[in-house]
Amino acid sequence: MLNKLKPEINFCSCGCEARLVKEKGANGRGKFRYYVQCLDDSCGNTASEAPFPWQAILEWNLSDKSEFPDDFKLPFMNLTGMSAEEMQSSMQQKYQQIEKEIEKLQGNRNQKNNERLKILKLQLSWLRYGQSWVKDRFGIEDGFCEAVNS
Ligand SMILES: [Zn+2]
Repeated sequence: MLNKLKPEINFCSCGCEARLVKEKGANGRGKFRYYVQCLDDSCGNTASEAPFPWQAILEWNLSDKSEFPDDFKLPFMNLTGMSAEEMQSSMQQKYQQIEKEIEKLQGNRNQKNNERLKILKLQLSWLRYGQSWVKDRFGIEDGFCEAVNS
């Protein structure tokens, strides 16, 4: 399940490739943080940091600093044939559903639930990426989805 959630790093909006950077956290106690940065020093595009590498890639992919690919697929949802509006609302529903499940699991921590939490949080990042892909692709803003198909 987890392997299916591995994201590719989008190109930078400047056209250059970007890479994942791993850095020791500010407290220096062995915790790492990750972020994606453009390989072109003169560009300097950098995305938000995340505690896990795949989440850092998704932070980059969902930011407007990365170049959105023509095709987008969520590894755990089928959006084929949907309109922008339908995609947004089904992703929104899934997001809320996952948030609820996370809440439940966080009240009952154990090894198995921790694994499940990792997957769920990654799915949230994927959904945020999906939402910004759809917004970019169809040129819509939050709350203006209705206008797209009318
Ligand atoms: Zn760049």
